[in-house]
Amino acid sequence: MTGGGAARRWQPAYVALGSNLDDPAAQLHAAVLAMRALPETRVVLVSPFYRSPPMGPQDQPAFVNAVAGVLTRLAATALLSGLKGIERARGRPADAPRWGPRLIDLDIIALGRQQLAQPGLTIPHAGASARAFVLKPLADIAPALELPGMGRLESLLATVDLAGLEPLESLG
Ligand code: ADP
Ligand code: MG
Repeated sequence: MTGGGAARRWQPAYVALGSNLDDPAAQLHAAVLAMRALPETRVVLVSPFYRSPPMGPQDQPAFVNAVAGVLTRLAATALLSGLKGIERARGRPADAPRWGPRLIDLDIIALGRQQLAQPGLTIPHAGASARAFVLKPLADIAPALELPGMGRLESLLATVDLAGLEPLESLG
């Protein structure tokens, strides 16, 4: 299974969505719609949406975050290209600053049982184990998940501060 091609088997994958600009919840809905159009990929579940304080620079609006559970036959690199294509199409310049304001951020949190560390793609996502705004929505849709090399979701959740996370009234 190499970059670009379709893998043989369907695998579960989890994609974290985040936005803090221009009606963030609407950005998430639009990104989910776009994910439904990805080749070889089915969106199965979308977690509730959460409002969360910004990571990094604090002088920016709060984020809205969620996690989508998909089934995909795409290889990891092809899935990442597809998600980056959606980020670009949704108006996020490729050179946007890390941790700065963004229209939409789509990260692969996990893909099957894979562990990958290559330039530009780490799976499970390196920040996943420490981010409440990823772990909480992920636990909503996949409470028994184990992130390969990181541990069980239940244990990881116990190590993060969930205080800043606020469920949105209108759910995804
Ligand atoms: P972040 O998501 O950490 O806030 P960016 O969205 O700007 O920051 O991502 C920077 C780079 O991280 C992307 O260009 C991508 O190549 C790389 N990356 C590494 N692992 C992953 C992953 N699992 N999912 C998405 N992007 C990843
Ligand atoms: Mg990202």
